[in-house]
Amino acid sequence: MARIVMKFGGTSVADLERIRNVAGRIKAEVDRGNQVAVVISAMAGVTNQLADYADQSAELYDLREYDVVVSSGEQVTAGILAIVLQDLGVSARSWLGWQIPIRTNDAHGNARIEDIDVTEILRRFDDGQVAVVTGFQGIDAQGRVTTLGRGGSDISAVALAAALDAERCDIHTDVDGVYTSDPRIVAKAHKLDRVTYEEMLEMASQGAKVLQTRSVEIAMKHRVRVRVLSSFENSSGTLIVDEDEIVEQAIVSGITYSRDEAKITLTRVPDRPGAAAGIFGPLAEAAINVDMIVQNVSVDSDETGITFTVTKADLERAVKVLEGLRDSLEYGDLLSDPNVVKVSVIGVGMRSHVGVAQKMFSTLAEKGINIQVISTSEIKVSVLVAEEYTELAVRSLHSAYGLDAA
Ligand code: ASP
Ligand code: MG
Repeated sequence: MARIVMKFGGTSVADLERIRNVAGRIKAEVDRGNQVAVVISAMAGVTNQLADYADQSAELYDLREYDVVVSSGEQVTAGILAIVLQDLGVSARSWLGWQIPIRTNDAHGNARIEDIDVTEILRRFDDGQVAVVTGFQGIDAQGRVTTLGRGGSDISAVALAAALDAERCDIHTDVDGVYTSDPRIVAKAHKLDRVTYEEMLEMASQGAKVLQTRSVEIAMKHRVRVRVLSSFENSSGTLIVDEDEIVEQAIVSGITYSRDEAKITLTRVPDRPGAAAGIFGPLAEAAINVDMIVQNVSVDSDETGITFTVTKADLERAVKVLEGLRDSLEYGDLLSDPNVVKVSVIGVGMRSHVGVAQKMFSTLAEKGINIQVISTSEIKVSVLVAEEYTELAVRSLHSAYGLDAA
């Protein structure tokens, strides 16, 4: 007997037919004698629709009410799934976030889970009951409903698995696992049987959409064994594990890309202490996240150029903030370019092998792709290039690191 958490995303519960399919999978686990907690999303597209309703009701609105609206999609699927399970003869009940409760802070729209009280769920496991839990939602100290940010049902699932001390957290989605790159643009991408927490974390934060980034952080912290698999096919999926559980570790495990970046350059910035602080301080105050940064060395002048990236959504605001600082910062020109993409090469093997970055640079050079900004971490190299080269860059790198499927 094992205790498992099964999570089903929006496409897996998109209609009644699919909810029946999901119920069948849950029943199979129950019949194997397992204790099962299920975490579900809203039906595909529903949360977008609900968010649109909120956006259209007023220009500025109370985020506590936004959370009431957008959390409702999960209530529908949890109730229906519980009904369908009962109809199959499986003992089950639905749980809204506040009923458990899943306690969060009060950052409405993007709340963090603080604590999950699993006492009652555990008690009912002993009676053979399945817990059907709404993903994406919780309750704050004021008793208000909160949501965890878009894609947050992955977070609910992993956090619940940690709280239940579950043996596995199976994330069922519309793909059959984690791939070496996006199969929609790299036909030769292949599924990874195993990937380390750290690699998965980099992949998620560098653009791979298969898991919500924060859910991977929680999995890594609590050592939850997460498996990503398809809810439509029977395959073993991808297991996310500790590095020492992977026998033959490839140097590079994946190539990701993110079109979510935009580039800003400030020219002729005075080269003096406090210049960078003068730029990035006000951006941080405006809650604008800066990702990559390069500052040119000034050889024989007392001015320098600074280039950095923000998300496309923040570009307009960032430009406004910087325009407001023109007089105090005394920079020359402010240039912005939304037509860029960040391409990243990820692998824990980088720690022990030299030449990984060099291979990336030479591969891109051979294709005539100019690198605009570079950033690295211990297990990742990212470059910013013109958006029109996305496919070419990702495919060439995938081949260059020997990731193409035979
Ligand atoms: N339904 C929520 C969303 O679409 C949460 C999730 O599906 O993960 O963002
Ligand atoms: Mg999702």
